[in-house]
Amino acid sequence: MHFPLPVRIGPLWGATTGQHNTSQELDTHPRTRLYSLAPREIGTIWRESLTGYINRLGWTHHVTPRSLVVQEVIPQLSDDLRVSMSAHISVFSYQGALVLNGYSVQAQTWVSILERLTGRTDLPFLTLPWWIGNLSSRKQLRRVPAWCPSCLAEWQENGSPIYQPLLWGLQVVILCPRHRDFLKDRCPQCQKPQAVIAANKSRPGACTHCSSWLGAEAQDQQKLVYDDELIAWQEWVIYALEELHGASLSTEMLLWESFFTHLADCLKEQEAFSRLSRVSGIKREFLHRWVCNDDTYTPTLETILKFCYICDVTPLQVMKNQVSRLRQIIESERAVRVPSPRPRLRRVNLEQCQTFLQAVLNGQEKPQGLRQIEKHLGYTVRQLSYHFPKECALITPLAQEYRRQRKEERLDKVREQVRLAVISVHSQGVYPSQRKLRPLLPGGLMRMPEAKEAWRTTLRELGFEL
Ligand SMILES: [Zn+2]
Ligand SMILES: [Zn+2]
Repeated sequence: MHFPLPVRIGPLWGATTGQHNTSQELDTHPRTRLYSLAPREIGTIWRESLTGYINRLGWTHHVTPRSLVVQEVIPQLSDDLRVSMSAHISVFSYQGALVLNGYSVQAQTWVSILERLTGRTDLPFLTLPWWIGNLSSRKQLRRVPAWCPSCLAEWQENGSPIYQPLLWGLQVVILCPRHRDFLKDRCPQCQKPQAVIAANKSRPGACTHCSSWLGAEAQDQQKLVYDDELIAWQEWVIYALEELHGASLSTEMLLWESFFTHLADCLKEQEAFSRLSRVSGIKREFLHRWVCNDDTYTPTLETILKFCYICDVTPLQVMKNQVSRLRQIIESERAVRVPSPRPRLRRVNLEQCQTFLQAVLNGQEKPQGLRQIEKHLGYTVRQLSYHFPKECALITPLAQEYRRQRKEERLDKVREQVRLAVISVHSQGVYPSQRKLRPLLPGGLMRMPEAKEAWRTTLRELGFEL
């Protein structure tokens, strides 16, 4: 039976959607609730990300991706997750949702729900475990979406569907392997980071805040990065990721236990830990923890790749116990490459910073601290304080006062919620004990001292003696 979609999710399709839909991509499976939209580039390292797929799915149904999630996905989560996700969907869409592309139970749950809704079976491939394996997602994924403006421009020019590859979500990838251009994570117009799950119907490739096009303009397309060391490092990263990708296609899921076991074998010789530590720049204690099955600590993908880069092995080679090169390096204590370079700091756009800092000071922009401004503008606090010491000195107390006021407002809201709950229970002829209030209030709220105080105050108002 075909379930009709809720009213706001209309039948898709029409000339205006040509940008991101082609008829070959869609399969209107008669028994699925949502269109069986085909993910992009499965089977290559350019495969689509799950969050990007959710966005395209929403846009394909002519609804905002966030309402698609609210209407279709959240109702299928377990009770407690449903409540907390409904309450925090907006924050999650901005800050947390990239975890859906990683190695977690939450990601698996979402994949299963979306598979049921679309009738597809290939959605696990939109998450990292089916590429990188069972390595912890810690620091593996970026916090905000990134993109290559030149890729977007190219796809638009060729009329190819615009989508968000999983590759762009990896923290360790900073250059586009096709264009050697830095991936961007701020809109060139409004300077804001992008929502992971969009809350508007904007076209793919458009800013989720101001709808500006995020692709490169023709004149920007030739801005290549000329830093040989950085390029060499990034090319090697892609090579290592491609190798893992190839291996993951022919196996169930790559298991990192073999990497650490084989590394441990290489470290059995006396002094081997110290030697490898000197070569790789990783402290001995940490190398110990890598190989001693310490469940509380797993190195990040980036750390492992940096280590392998210096030691001239790939993660897959270590997994397969092809470690003769690594043994040589430990023996000779000579690194093959210099440690991976960090990208140099961007040159500060003084005019842009000045305008933004002034706007914060005179109230045109939301009051915010230097850390937030750092994120917003993409320059470090140190850079900002160096160029604008006066403005920065004024901003901190302003932000503190703003935070204090916001906190007070939130507490007032808590007090009011408790007061209304007490009155409501009392009006039913029941004594408004804290236990009776709990079902009416968000979980954990009655543990707050302010909530308890408001409870006592209201009881006194109602004539109870405490
Ligand atoms: Zn590119
Ligand atoms: Zn924008």
